[in-house]
Amino acid sequence: MSDTIFGKILSGAIPCHKVYEDEQVFAFLDISPLSTGHTLVIPKEPAQTLDALSDESAAALGRVLPRICRAVIAVTGVREYNVLENNGAGAHQAVAHVHFHIIPKPSHGEGLGIGWPARALDQKAGAELAAKLRTALR
Ligand code: 5GP
Repeated sequence: MSDTIFGKILSGAIPCHKVYEDEQVFAFLDISPLSTGHTLVIPKEPAQTLDALSDESAAALGRVLPRICRAVIAVTGVREYNVLENNGAGAHQAVAHVHFHIIPKPSHGEGLGIGWPARALDQKAGAELAAKLRTALR
């Protein structure tokens, strides 16, 4: 159990509105929703960031995320949504236990606002970077 607010939710020490549970995954409503239906999906494994998560927990999350998204769509009637997962305080992670946000995006403007400061990819630098990443993934 992680020593975070989500660890306490998993242990039952703090209440929540539970949406889903299996052996490896737990989901519940966010206490400060950006829109109606804002749901958090977490592994029971106490990893702080996604890169620290085991393949088994990652697979369990990946298996159930689309199903929970479908339930959120069905219940809210909102077909568009964002799935967000922050890693590290500088990347807006407030709770140090991996969590995926499912955030419905209704047409009237609620939901996630995103800053997206895109720039052009330099082709030569991109080729070098992709090669380094392929090596790191071996
Ligand atoms: P983060 O910024 O770490 O990606 O998001 C943390 C999320 O956890 C926030 O959306 C926040 O509202 C939610 N949260 C924080 N404390 C609690 C709590 O005690 N219960 C529930 N249900 N959600 C919480």
